Amino acid sequence: MFLSKGESFKKYFHDNSKVNWIYLAREFETFSRYKKIYNQIRFIDEQGKEKIRVDYNDGVPAILPRSKLQNKSSRYYFKKSIKLNNYEVYVSPLDLNIENDLVEIPYNPMIRFATPIFDGYGKKRGILVLNYSANELLNKLRDILSFGKGEAMMLNNQGYWLISEHIDKQWGFMLDKPDERFATSYPDQWQEISRNKKGEFKSMLKTFIYTTAYPLKDALEFTQHQSEFLHGHELSPRIPLPKGHKADDYYWKLLFVMDAATFQFIYNERLKHFFSLLLLLSLASVLITLLFVRLAKHDHLISQKLKKLATTDYLTGAYSRGELFNIGHTEFSRVKRYNRDLSVIMIDADYFKEINDNYGHHAGDIALKELAKITQNNIREQDSLGRFGGEEFVILMPEETSNGAIELAQRIRKNIENNHISYDNQFFQFTISIGISVYKNTDKRLEDIIQRADKALYQAKEQGRNKVVLYE
Ligand code: GH3
Ligand code: MG
Ligand code: MG
Repeated sequence: MFLSKGESFKKYFHDNSKVNWIYLAREFETFSRYKKIYNQIRFIDEQGKEKIRVDYNDGVPAILPRSKLQNKSSRYYFKKSIKLNNYEVYVSPLDLNIENDLVEIPYNPMIRFATPIFDGYGKKRGILVLNYSANELLNKLRDILSFGKGEAMMLNNQGYWLISEHIDKQWGFMLDKPDERFATSYPDQWQEISRNKKGEFKSMLKTFIYTTAYPLKDALEFTQHQSEFLHGHELSPRIPLPKGHKADDYYWKLLFVMDAATFQFIYNERLKHFFSLLLLLSLASVLITLLFVRLAKHDHLISQKLKKLATTDYLTGAYSRGELFNIGHTEFSRVKRYNRDLSVIMIDADYFKEINDNYGHHAGDIALKELAKITQNNIREQDSLGRFGGEEFVILMPEETSNGAIELAQRIRKNIENNHISYDNQFFQFTISIGISVYKNTDKRLEDIIQRADKALYQAKEQGRNKVVLYE
């Protein structure tokens, strides 16, 4: 919308001079350089001829000379998007880039976003096309899926492979190999997978675990929500769907296929591993959604914000309990493998109920925020603060021994004790109790250390509160 509704297009249509052509092309170039995610930005006229084209060229955007411009009137994305109305956006399937009627080598997977362009008199003059290069997305998905067991795959809604360990099975629909697809190799299994959102089943001595990403549907829901906050509804872009189509039809399947023996092994040895396969699939699907939401929002920061939302506690900004365990489990494996130090500090506010009773729940919230802030200011870069429960926090301190942990705990305890909180023209103070424990090489799980820290915390409470106790 930024490019298509800008003044430069209006000027270009009003006076088709070389100068105006260059102004518009330079606008594309600047957009390309700073957006960094669009492989090509093009204006294609109503006859299907490329008129302006900027290639990203891995960070060195170039305006293509007129001699390099092609006729795209027969490409499906042109035919579909030239029919659209003002503010409507076409989203193509994920496929391979084509140059001069041939699939570009090396393969260049992309999704095209296109919208019609109108001149100052409201006449349709062509389309603006942004080619989103999906290589980065596909590589990230491969990375995530590589942590799993068995063969990882991504399929499009026709059952063609977009990701497969067998490279030559990928992109069958683009390479004149209509039978090179999961749906042909595994027709019954494809029936099951395409019908359901996610699941797990056994068939032909193999186990299939799968989930579905609905990027368009998710992005639409997200932007609809967003446009409620915009002035002028009619100015927000829309993605119209062809008759009989739903946003759900735009989906990709993510799956693991493994032989029964591998699956049985995982299942018997560690039930957790099985769940982590599902988790990996969901993670991959979230990544896809984030991409679409980001593109729809015109905001690079949004995916970071969403990720932050998912991993931090909304009130205090500390890590959520789940994320604290994620970090903790990774840290624990490292510490165990290399026999390093790890200290765990557990903090619980004293008589916190009284603060709520005397000053109100809101005052209690402010006190918790202050507690998190003061703690955050005292810990080191490599330490992680998480909200463990209501008014309980945990600090993970890699490479820290008991002495260092005690010193830090005392500092936080004193800072809180001396901190005056003002709320509603009143001042109040509170204290905290702290339990500490350090990693022992007999520990089997992170939870073992946390349990000891909890016992030490209990002792600190027993000893009168506002105390630091190391578990011995
Ligand atoms: P002590 O730990 O010293 O034994 O006493 P306590 O009063 O802190 O004991 P307890 O753990 O039983 O109570 C914790 C209280 O913390 C209960 C709950 O009302 C309050 N609390 C937990 N989460 C929040 C929160 O998010 N906001 C506010 N305002 N209060 C919370
Ligand atoms: Mg408590
Ligand atoms: Mg308490």
